[in-house]
Amino acid sequence: MIKKLDGQFVVPGEKLGVVEEFMPGRGTVEVNGTVYSSQTGVAAVDSNRHIVSVKTSAGPPVVPEEGSTIIGVVEKVQEKMAIVNIVVVDGHKLQPPFTGMLHISNSSPRFERFMGDVCKPNDIIRGKVIDVSQRIPKLTTVGRDMGVIKAYCSRCGGELVLSGRILRCTLCLNVERRRLADDFGPGGNVPS
Ligand SMILES: [Zn+2]
Repeated sequence: MIKKLDGQFVVPGEKLGVVEEFMPGRGTVEVNGTVYSSQTGVAAVDSNRHIVSVKTSAGPPVVPEEGSTIIGVVEKVQEKMAIVNIVVVDGHKLQPPFTGMLHISNSSPRFERFMGDVCKPNDIIRGKVIDVSQRIPKLTTVGRDMGVIKAYCSRCGGELVLSGRILRCTLCLNVERRRLADDFGPGGNVPS
């Protein structure tokens, strides 16, 4: 199975295998334990490290690199870290998204106790890639213009807006906390 896959031409969305066989590398995405190709190219299996990746034949693939500015949708928030679906890298849309990780120590210039005070699921963040040595790129939202650029109420899903220094839901008036980007607001630069 693994030998047959190595060198094979694959297209986005093509099933490559399951995580029990190998971990998803560059150009692949894992969904519920299944590894799919995220781009058109040639599958490469590293049987020593048990990693499958897909290399494009034409031009370098758009993948997050150290220093890349990214836009991501917060998928999951734990006490000290968040999982982020990176949808834009340096202005290029990723289809499908690439998973990134934001640790609380890289999330804010201030000390934050809980990741939920920084961002919540469905929020849109702007960040930078600081480390791609691991399978999942590590992100930071410490810098200028970094942080949440669009936020949604954790109670009803309504959009949160700033009135003065208070972040409030437009629908249910719930007040919440976030690590907001400097340009947060209706005029924020949010990709469609
Ligand atoms: Zn609400």
